[in-house]
Amino acid sequence: MPRSKEETIEFLHTLPLADVHRHFDGAVRPRTLWNLSQTYYSAIPGLDYDGFREKLSYDASRDRTLLDYLDKFHIPLQYTQFFDNIQTIAEEIAEDAYADGVRLLELRLNPTIHRRAGLTSRQVLTAVRKGLRACVRRHADLEAGIIVIAMRNHGGNMAKILLREVVGEMEQYHSGIGVVGFDIAGPERPFPPVLFVDTYALATTMGFHRTVHAGEDEGPRSVWDAVELLGAERLGHATSAGRDRELISRLAKDGIAVEVCLTSNVQTGAVDRLSDHPLPRFLEAGVPVCLSTDNPTVSGVTLAGEYATAIEMFDLSDDDVRRLVNMSRRHTFITSRENRSC
Ligand SMILES: [Zn+2]
Repeated sequence: MPRSKEETIEFLHTLPLADVHRHFDGAVRPRTLWNLSQTYYSAIPGLDYDGFREKLSYDASRDRTLLDYLDKFHIPLQYTQFFDNIQTIAEEIAEDAYADGVRLLELRLNPTIHRRAGLTSRQVLTAVRKGLRACVRRHADLEAGIIVIAMRNHGGNMAKILLREVVGEMEQYHSGIGVVGFDIAGPERPFPPVLFVDTYALATTMGFHRTVHAGEDEGPRSVWDAVELLGAERLGHATSAGRDRELISRLAKDGIAVEVCLTSNVQTGAVDRLSDHPLPRFLEAGVPVCLSTDNPTVSGVTLAGEYATAIEMFDLSDDDVRRLVNMSRRHTFITSRENRSC
């Protein structure tokens, strides 16, 4: 007899889920932002809580594209410019992830966009690190790390400057919780991977693990370039890779993992319908997949819920699910798992 949705979630919560693609800015608790809006100033005067909350989440009746999706980040950014706010929000995101069954969390953000009130990039990351650490201290079975994002639209030079600013925040310098990886995100057009060749070479030299948002709003070429020009170890979304058999074989052969975020991929228009998603093609070909959330608040999802969606849509067995969870854990960038008590 098939499981009910509740039984499926119960089963998923027995597994040590891993979310390696979760954005800080898209995972903020709406209630926290609302409270901050009452303390500091109201971003959009005249809204009650429900109206405010609507501005933070994707709405299929109005929103269609990646740019509509990216619009949801404007309000959180007005409040995430201050050290204490960033620390509190990071701690709450980790706590929410833990309640969602996540036992390994890679949280990503671009520090530059949190500097408008005068913080440095290192201070932004210190705030995130402190928030994550506070949560990890409460939950000994939780591992956490940070991925630093450079915005594609800020260009390659800014990305290199950012790397030099944040290298001192890597996990090995901070008792096990710190920066573990580097990523580029934001509009794919007109900012192709070729603009970031020197950046990724520098990231490699500095010892950062490397992921790349690619093939979400662009064709397979962008994914090829992320692999061949940037040396990506993982790919964010890469949905268009599903249209290129040779590329799928390459990802499988080299063990390059795809961070799959099902609901987000439908909302941004990366796929037309969930049933069109290349997830089954990736799995069949042996491409490692890390099922992730992208933006729980914006997309209105949890990781366990995304697994449940995958189970239902693609008829996954319990063994398939266990394999998926293991793949995410195997492809994590977090390396220092012990000694994170101080
Ligand atoms: Zn993303």
